[in-house]
This record gives sequence, C-alpha cells and structure tokens, in this order.
Amino acid sequence: MHARFVFERMAIAAVSESLTERGVQELRSSASGEDGRLPEDFHIALGRLSGNPVLELYIDILVSLTAAYTHRARGIAGNTEEEGCAAARQHLAIAESIVAGASSRAQSDLVAHLDRAATWLSGLVHPQPGESTAIGPMDLAPDEWPRERKLAGSVAGRIRDDIVREGRYVGEVLGSEADFVSRYGVSRSVFRESIRILEHYSVARMRQGPGGGLVVLEPDPTSSIRTIALYLDFRGVTVEHLRTVRDEVELGCLTAAMRSGMLGKAELREDQQRGDSKAGRCSACLRDRVATLSGDPVLILFRSVLATLWDEYGSGRRPSDPCRSTDQGPADQAELDAIVDAMVAGDEGLAQFRMRRHLREHPGW
Ligand SMILES: [Zn+2]
Ligand SMILES: [Zn+2]
Repeated sequence: MHARFVFERMAIAAVSESLTERGVQELRSSASGEDGRLPEDFHIALGRLSGNPVLELYIDILVSLTAAYTHRARGIAGNTEEEGCAAARQHLAIAESIVAGASSRAQSDLVAHLDRAATWLSGLVHPQPGESTAIGPMDLAPDEWPRERKLAGSVAGRIRDDIVREGRYVGEVLGSEADFVSRYGVSRSVFRESIRILEHYSVARMRQGPGGGLVVLEPDPTSSIRTIALYLDFRGVTVEHLRTVRDEVELGCLTAAMRSGMLGKAELREDQQRGDSKAGRCSACLRDRVATLSGDPVLILFRSVLATLWDEYGSGRRPSDPCRSTDQGPADQAELDAIVDAMVAGDEGLAQFRMRRHLREHPGW
C-alpha cells in the first residue's frame, strides 16, 4: 500500500500541473462511478492523466494487485455497497480538489482514502507467505500478426486478467483444456497458442496427467522487466519520466526505511563512514542500503525495474562499481553524511529535504 501512496500522490502533482478540459471530463467521469465505471478506474485515470508512462504503468500494476486482494476480501466480507459509496464520494472530492487547483488538499484526501482502504483490507485479508499473483502487460500484439495469433494474445490476456481478478494462488489448477475451450469459445489451436504466451510470460502452464490442467505459475520478474521495457519504449518514455519516478521511489524508500523500525542507526552511520572507498559510501550505495532498509518489496522491485530501464533509456549506463567510478568529492560526501545524520536523528522532513536536493543536483543513477 505504501507504494500506492508514493505513486498516486506523485500522479496528483503531475495531473494538477497539466490538466486540460478533456482531462477534467475524464477525471470527473472516472470518479463518478456511473456508466459501469469501476472504483479502480479513478486511480487508473490519475496515472493516465499524469502524462508519464512509467507512472501510469506502475499505478496500473498496483491497482490490479490491490483489486485481486479486494476481490478475495469481498468474497469474505459479502456486501460492500456502503464501502463502495464512501469510496465514490472520496473519489469525487479528490477529483474536485484537483480540478480546483487545490492539489495538496487532493493529496491529503487521497492519503486518507487509501488509508481507509488499507485498514479495511488488512482486517479481512491475510495473504499467505509466498503467495503472489501473476501480472504483466501482454496485449502488445503487433498489427502484422495473423488473426489467430492476435486472438490467442487476447485470450491469454483474458485468462491472465481472470487469474488476477479472481485472486488465484500460485499452484492452483484452473481447469482443463476442454473447460477453457468452451468458456472462451475458441478453437483448441487458438487456446494452445494462448497457453504458449502464458508460459512465456510465466503466468500459467498446462500440467498433464491426473490432477492436471492449467496451473498458475510463480511470476518471473526478468521476462516482466523485458516486457515493461519494450512497452515503455513503445510509449515513448524519456529520461525525464524515469528520473522523476526514480526520485519519488528513492524518497518513498527513505520514508519507509525511517518508519520500518529496521533502521539500525548506529550501524547506518558506521557503515556510511566505513564505506568501500576512501571517502566513504557513494550515493548509489547509500540509496541501495536505504531501499533494503525500507523492507517494502514493491518499492524494491519497482526500483530494480527502474535501474534496468535506466541502463537502456537513462543518461548512460549505471557504473558496475559506483564507489570506484564516481568522482565524489568531499562536498558530495558531506551531503550524504547530512542525509544519514537526519535519518539517525529521526528527522523525516529534513532527511526528505536533503535527499530531494541531493537527487536534484546529481541526475546520474
Ligand atoms: Zn479509491
Ligand atoms: Zn558505492
């Protein structure tokens, strides 16, 4: 949930800066909950209207993940109409604040809204350790693909979406080939092609023999990261898009690290002073450490996705040994020490301020 706060707050800031007449309409209609719009649509619209494809994709992924849990929770909680009405009212209030230019009020209302949703969810859902839901964009069928192949791609996408929406577990058997052929109304050959796609993306595979059928797989991040990179390339991602999201991820990790209670303050300072170069730890190493201390698996994963993208689209590859290759002077070192000082002192605002300034002045990874 912390990752959703980070990215959706950032989206509100971006939407507020570049809102158009069409954007106002889109925002209001997604918040209205009318015409069969789902509650998730409002959050997805925030991502889309931000104009940053990285941010849009991250919000999409997080909303789908939350939707999977919510679906499971609804099964337990039964009727949630009252909950739904409250959510719709909050969406409308946030949308109106953005339209009126009151973006900080919109941000604090959003935080309260996500807080309520998190409390509600955590009271109902107790995910098992190691459980996860396969996810990743796969509707990237190029136009020149033959019709059958495109159909297989869309069937694969529907199966993937159903797995997410119905909150299926890794290892769960979803049904036989005959079940799927009749459920989706496609031929066996189209279905088999769609299974090849699902296997390629490590979403699901067919298991033969007794107790066999289509089985949900553990997601494989490498193929997802490749897919994400291709998708963002297609969407025209720029260095600036990556950098702004990177900055928010680092700041989000910093906050999470300070609140996690995992922060061994003495160790952090000692570690920073010892470092692995003459001057002490470099910026990249310090931020790696902060990310680990955040203990937030979603932020850590999104950060590593960004790092991979950075190598391809950012301002030059990340150095393989940052400590040795940065031309970090005493002034930079003092800046990093000052960040650590604020963290050790538990001064979240000051730590944020110093990290933000540091990132602005050091645009490299
Ligand atoms: Zn909502
Ligand atoms: Zn280093």
